[in-house]
Amino acid sequence: MKTADRRSGYWNREKETLAPAARERYQSRWLVRLLEHARANAPGVRRRLERAGVAPKDIRGVEDLAKIPVIRKHEMPDLQKADPPFGGFCTVPLAKIRKIFVSPGPILEPMGPELGAWHAEAGLYAGGFRPGDVVIDTFLYHLVPAAHELDEALNLIGCAVVPTGVGNTDTQVMVAKAVGATGYVGTPSFLMTILKRAGEMGVGRLPLQVAQVGAEPLPESLRRQFEEEYGVMTRQGFGTADLGLIAYECAEKSGFHLSEDAVTQVCDPQTGAPLPDGQIGEIVATVDNHTYPMIRFSTGDLTIIDDAPCPCGRTSARMLGWRGRADEVTKVRGMFIHPRQADEVVARAKGVERFQVVVGREGHQDTLTFRVQLADGADAAGVTQTLEAAIRDVMKLRGGVDVVPAGTIPDNAKKISDERKWD
Ligand SMILES: [Zn+2]
Repeated sequence: MKTADRRSGYWNREKETLAPAARERYQSRWLVRLLEHARANAPGVRRRLERAGVAPKDIRGVEDLAKIPVIRKHEMPDLQKADPPFGGFCTVPLAKIRKIFVSPGPILEPMGPELGAWHAEAGLYAGGFRPGDVVIDTFLYHLVPAAHELDEALNLIGCAVVPTGVGNTDTQVMVAKAVGATGYVGTPSFLMTILKRAGEMGVGRLPLQVAQVGAEPLPESLRRQFEEEYGVMTRQGFGTADLGLIAYECAEKSGFHLSEDAVTQVCDPQTGAPLPDGQIGEIVATVDNHTYPMIRFSTGDLTIIDDAPCPCGRTSARMLGWRGRADEVTKVRGMFIHPRQADEVVARAKGVERFQVVVGREGHQDTLTFRVQLADGADAAGVTQTLEAAIRDVMKLRGGVDVVPAGTIPDNAKKISDERKWD
């Protein structure tokens, strides 16, 4: 198959190209149905709604969703222990469950009778998978859901799946060659292991053309190697065991499109209130899964959402990748900042040897200062100017730069030091 064929088209053109108002209507329709169904059949959901004082008439669409409190992943093991096996979140009797997964925690996740409840098809298609692909699924097949979830979605697209699972590199190489595997799902590091091993084993180039990778970061340098050296179009999906695939990269590889079958909000990690696009916050998702409706569920991961149009034609907003954990953020003048953003700021200047971000207080105003130690010969004025612009761009805040002598910032300094006194 030619690469061009993998870059164009949609799994569901109508849904993926909805205008913003139509998308909100589509999501509001399924959301109201999902909540009615969950309230009637999932006692765990009903208890949460009642405790929050949310009546059925209070939720008429996406804009009302924030009335429901956020449920955090770390609460799940206790909730499930209190009301086994699923914490009251499963809407169907055990006799209708196809599989029960066991994720670390432990957290149990039921797979219900409906196909495609993880909504991974659109993301795989956007990432280049097409009917007729033969795919090696190298995610773990026991206990956890990712391998099964993608396996089912690939079948729904019309791909054949070889459930190779994790490890057994030599077998993976031989199988990929023998069946003419054109697709791969799994971690990026294992994809590289297989590609390299094929070379060592002397079996020649593997027929792989397309990969969806996840569960660990994909450095751009590694992606370039997959694409340029090995000819494997490589895209990422963002999913979790609880939620399924809620975001995915398209051919443009500039952020993860948000699935229409989940309402993904970026929220204030302290209050759970949705934040405007462009601000860092925690991912809170509600997924249209009638067996296991996770409503305003947070995994504790941070991201930023960008609603600028994408050249691929999909009209959904994009998540700009993983930005760290919600428990590491500091709030400055109403905006959350994270150590990874600090790294991003400093990476834009040349000659910074060591740095620390200091959050202080002047009168009733928070202050934000990048304390930096420079390498010999670095241009202090130039670095200061570059950093100030980068702070505005990355953190959406005004901040200062304080160039300090070598040895001022200790080895074990916290990346963000909150030195505000509240008295
Ligand atoms: Zn796109």
